[in-house]
Amino acid sequence: MSEMSVEKRIEFLKDEINKSNYKYYVEENPYLSDFEYDKMFAELKELEEKYPLLKTSDSPTQRVGSVSEKFFSHKHKYRLYSLDNTYNEEELRVWYEKICKEYEQELELVCELKIDGLAIALTYEEGLFTLGVTRGDGVTGENITQNLKTVKAIPLKLFEPKTLEVRGEIYMPKPSFEKLNEEALQAGEKVFANPRNAASGSLRQLDSTITAKRDLSMFTYTGIFEDEDDKQIKTHYDGMMKLKALGFKINPNIKLVKNIQGAIDYCKEWDKKRADLDYATDGVVIKVNNIAIQKDLGYTARAPKWATAFKFPPEEVTTKLIDIELNTGKTGVITPVAILEPVQLAGSTVSRASLHNFDEIARLDIRIGDTVLIKKAAEIIPKVIKYMDSKVHKSLPKYAAPTHCPACGALLKERDGVGLYCDNPKCSQLMCAKIEYWASKEAMDIDFVGPSIIQQLYDKKFISSPVDLYRLTTEDLMQLELVQEKSATNIYNAIQNSKVRPLNKLITALGIRYVGKETADILAGEFSSLDELKQATVERLYAIDGIGNIMAESIYEYFQDKNHLRMLDELKSLGINPTSKPKPKSDILAGKIFVLTGTLQNMTRDEASAIIKSHGGKTSSSVSKKTNYVLAGENAGSKLDKANELGVIILTENDFLEMIKDNKDL
Ligand code: NAD
Repeated sequence: MSEMSVEKRIEFLKDEINKSNYKYYVEENPYLSDFEYDKMFAELKELEEKYPLLKTSDSPTQRVGSVSEKFFSHKHKYRLYSLDNTYNEEELRVWYEKICKEYEQELELVCELKIDGLAIALTYEEGLFTLGVTRGDGVTGENITQNLKTVKAIPLKLFEPKTLEVRGEIYMPKPSFEKLNEEALQAGEKVFANPRNAASGSLRQLDSTITAKRDLSMFTYTGIFEDEDDKQIKTHYDGMMKLKALGFKINPNIKLVKNIQGAIDYCKEWDKKRADLDYATDGVVIKVNNIAIQKDLGYTARAPKWATAFKFPPEEVTTKLIDIELNTGKTGVITPVAILEPVQLAGSTVSRASLHNFDEIARLDIRIGDTVLIKKAAEIIPKVIKYMDSKVHKSLPKYAAPTHCPACGALLKERDGVGLYCDNPKCSQLMCAKIEYWASKEAMDIDFVGPSIIQQLYDKKFISSPVDLYRLTTEDLMQLELVQEKSATNIYNAIQNSKVRPLNKLITALGIRYVGKETADILAGEFSSLDELKQATVERLYAIDGIGNIMAESIYEYFQDKNHLRMLDELKSLGINPTSKPKPKSDILAGKIFVLTGTLQNMTRDEASAIIKSHGGKTSSSVSKKTNYVLAGENAGSKLDKANELGVIILTENDFLEMIKDNKDL
């Protein structure tokens, strides 16, 4: 490569890596696989080593992660680093021999599993947890103390009143990650690419009650002790044992080995055994045990020289793409699924893989009949990565996305961010999917009413919408295959019992696009009934913490549809009309008195009062010295004059919404 083209290549790699970093660390929505990312990173590092003059201080190889502006930032007391990677036995030996040569002796090593999660630093003062910050860019992180307090593996009080900082990895167990994604898929919400992004997304929620509901845990992997007696600890391994004795959760598979051979054996052992763990690991971290030598070796701009990560090879295999199956979900969205020639991958037989959507098929340009490379993304969900045999590929016809619904034949529609969808209310697959979701655990939780019963009821024309379930009689149910009187009674009772499900469950069951279980919880905490929710304006919805504008529009649109409103009336007449007592959203307006005046554009005054109250504030009808804010709409009259006279802060509707949305300190 000429110097010029090297420069161009370096610029390209820096650009791509910076873009991917943003998608990965800030948006938690990577578009590259870790393998592809690591390959580009290694290439950039190699080019920079070969052409040092082209290495700039803003290169991603000189930096750690990225920091977002979602939370208050916090400057770390001690810097946090990333790790350099090795990919094979030879690279490990080179790393080890280089450092042993300096000390003219074999060095003891500690091997730990590399947990695929989010790095955090926790501060304890005299035994009490006082501060929790993400790694961020290593110098500055995000203060997420409140959210971290909801993670049970983080001790709030230690067994001894020690002052120290610990670092650890927050992770989401594999089964919980799969469940979270399944629920998100059903609700048409964002699906996390891997458990690490899921852990990060769950932890970086503005509402800590959402974090509390996610199954997160933490393994502690290092401590910086500040008490004099602890400073006498001489090895990393002893430090880890001390952390365990203080009440921290450390990974039980930690191992002290005499030399690099021991570490290589450990890597080989865990490459085989990692599939059985219930958390994701992407390698092994190998650390020099002696702390004095660690200090002496020090750090590069990005990573310690006394440790290295051995990355497990990605779990990939090739197989044949036999077909692309099309499924219609409860929101009508058509999802393509790859049907594969069964193949063994990471200890299980894989015959289906996710394709996400039709843009992804076009991007990969995969065709039925292709030999494809599949990979378990973060060791869990099989994903099609690319086609392999270009000769065969060229001979195959290009895959054409469907134009009509595979179930009912209706012309499909397309919308940005949603993809292709069927909106024919008579589509059997769409309606059965809606009813299945209605009866599912997270929604109305109706025992015995699964896909086969629903399909039969639909085919026999007993039901054509979820409401019809409540009109079924035991006689109707007894006409189904293998359903005798006793089962019919059980099904009937299960359906009737579901009528008293709380408001959050009913909102979930409606299957509003972008509204899953968590959003439904938020809405039920904000509105006292479906009647109140259906009257909410987009602005009122958007003002709620945790509701974005796309969601707000989708909720609003749902309640504009005549068919939906008819269904809600029918539910009411059948006795399904739960109410809830909205709990205060926050206390940011506690002690603040508002006066409302003039005509507001985006909400009624009652709605504005409800928002103020839900954040702990009060409203009053007249302006006085005690008034903190006057919320003024159009044509505001004497109250506005009085406010000006008394020097009371005047807010426009926008100021007010921003203030609530950002939870600004008042
Ligand atoms: P890393 O995850 O490869 O390694 C460093 C991290 O390992 C530490 O910060 C720590 O959090 C963690 N760790 C886990 N167990 C540990 C243990 N026992 N001891 C010490 N540390 C432990 O590095 P990174 O800087 O966090 O992220 C870079 C990696 O992230 C890349 O290699 C890539 O795999 C991935 N990434 C992917 C994309 C993408 O677009 N797919 C983008 C950016 C980063």
